[in-house]
Amino acid sequence: MYDISDGWLKQAHKICSPNFNQRPDNTAIDAIIIHSISLPPGCYDGDDINQFFSNQLNCNKDPYYNAIRGMKVSAHLLIRRTGEMIQYVNFHSRAWHAGLSQMGGQDNCNNFSIGIELEGTDSSSFETAQYDTLTAVVMSLMSYFPKITQKRIVGHSDIAPGRKTDPGTGFNWQRWQKQLNDEKQ
Ligand SMILES: [Zn+2]
Repeated sequence: MYDISDGWLKQAHKICSPNFNQRPDNTAIDAIIIHSISLPPGCYDGDDINQFFSNQLNCNKDPYYNAIRGMKVSAHLLIRRTGEMIQYVNFHSRAWHAGLSQMGGQDNCNNFSIGIELEGTDSSSFETAQYDTLTAVVMSLMSYFPKITQKRIVGHSDIAPGRKTDPGTGFNWQRWQKQLNDEKQ
């Protein structure tokens, strides 16, 4: 378990993204959305995700970046291939990760969820260090925000079907849910 204080994870590096706002009044934080990202796709360990979430990415650097030029997005947390964590937005604030989305009849999942990015692609497998970190982070978040239940931890593809495919086929939900349940006991 990690320490969360005033909405910040103490064990994470902190890079403040300007891409956030307040959640609507009286919104309970009760869901976690799992994503995957790498920039350019399939390239790991660089600084481009940090720059992208800070609106500082040089989009002339790679042809893929034409597709994301000018986008203002963020997530609360990135888990790198090593398991290292970077937090961009306070958990109490509304990060911009879900886009057009729906969950259990509620639209606009950014309002009530926390967005966690795993460094990877929609078809890559993920590292054991990432599963381990994700488990510890989710346990910490479920303790900090008791309204988050396990069935409200879903993939981006679950809340934006047809539009999004992340975290992708390489994310082993069964493995991860077993790890989470084992850890809880
Ligand atoms: Zn996503």
